[in-house]
Amino acid sequence: MTAHAPSEGTQAVTATRVLVLNSGSSSVKYQLLDMRDSSRLATGLVERIGERASRLVHTPAHGERRERTEQVADHAAALKAVAEELRQDGLGIESPELAAFGHRVVHGGPKFTEPTVVDDDVLAEIERLVPLAPLHSPANITGIRTARALRPDLPQVAVFDTAFHATMPESAYRYAVDVRTADAYDVRRYGFHGTSHAYVSRRAAELLGKDPSEVNVIVLHLGNGASASAVAGGRCVDTSMGLTPLEGLVMGTRSGDIDPAVIFHLARVGGMSVDEIDELLNKRSGLTGLCGDNDMREIRRRIDAGDAAARLAFDIYIHRLKKYIGAYTAVLGRVDAVVFTAGVGENAAEVREAAVAGLDTLGIAVDAGRNTVRSDVPRLVSPDGSRVAVAVVPTDEELEIARQTFALVGEDRTVDA
Ligand code: AMP
Repeated sequence: MTAHAPSEGTQAVTATRVLVLNSGSSSVKYQLLDMRDSSRLATGLVERIGERASRLVHTPAHGERRERTEQVADHAAALKAVAEELRQDGLGIESPELAAFGHRVVHGGPKFTEPTVVDDDVLAEIERLVPLAPLHSPANITGIRTARALRPDLPQVAVFDTAFHATMPESAYRYAVDVRTADAYDVRRYGFHGTSHAYVSRRAAELLGKDPSEVNVIVLHLGNGASASAVAGGRCVDTSMGLTPLEGLVMGTRSGDIDPAVIFHLARVGGMSVDEIDELLNKRSGLTGLCGDNDMREIRRRIDAGDAAARLAFDIYIHRLKKYIGAYTAVLGRVDAVVFTAGVGENAAEVREAAVAGLDTLGIAVDAGRNTVRSDVPRLVSPDGSRVAVAVVPTDEELEIARQTFALVGEDRTVDA
């Protein structure tokens, strides 16, 4: 759509809103943002889609939070319910101020290295990639299809979790596996949490008062899923997740790195099927597998009460984290900042402290006082004069999706109303 003068009797409206949709297998999370000032106009979620008692929570920026329980049969019904909630606040998706939908899409495979306006060909390619992310991609596709049916005239932009990592050199992304076999099945490191690593590394540069091109940053995204990345001059050069989000750090329920031969052993000696091992490593491993809890708050509480299993789980988590900080220090050569983000990274001072303990020789340390101050703004937690800054930067994946969506389609969105 091209910017143009208003026709007679109409008024030119610049569309500046982006509706960000994160469609999971049984939930849709959404945020409506105004990209003039990156403000949130409304946020919410629909969960337990397909069950008898689905739950809708809607929070407008200017108004009361609304919550109700009712049956929402499928994603189409969920999006209609979201549209109705937005309409009640005068923020309906039929508004000429809505510029685009921005969709979180988990896997972009080897092809999608940038945010992409979805047409039939793009949708077909995302569908081809379903085997790479069978749990997530089908829901992402349903979200796009449903939004497209509601506003066929608006751009639907796919923002891929893998895209930020597309700048990795082949020496980092290629596994040392027979090349023809690997290429035949798109087997390589892709990396995930890309919108978070992109946002957080950029905000960290801002915090240092530098342009992203001038700084080398290690980003530690520690949520229920967890990943590390090495970002050199604004470009990702290595990341810990791989073909799927299973590789790398110890996570809430995922093992992270293991010897792949564990899988053959469990199949041959343990008689487990591939699906059983998949479920074991993705759902019953990590912190949960080690001590029965995946929430770092609960693990800390148990450690304080003298629980040995919780202590060991914490120590294994930290040991892995420290190994990645060391590895990415070597990959980057010069590190300007180590940045913690996501639920654990932003909130668990003990994790930050333990992860950098003993790394003074690398110039990496936290100041005990600064590290324990609770705050929700980007901040430095290292001592003054440290060679490497240690920072906490709250992530904002929805804002990053909206930003990338608007950067792609925003300029031309002046329409007659
Ligand atoms: P996320 O996936 O980014 O939403 O992170 C979720 C995880 O963050 C939870 O499973 C907790 O382990 C962790 N978390 C959230 N709040 C805190 C807190 N105050 N202290 C420690 N860990 C926290």
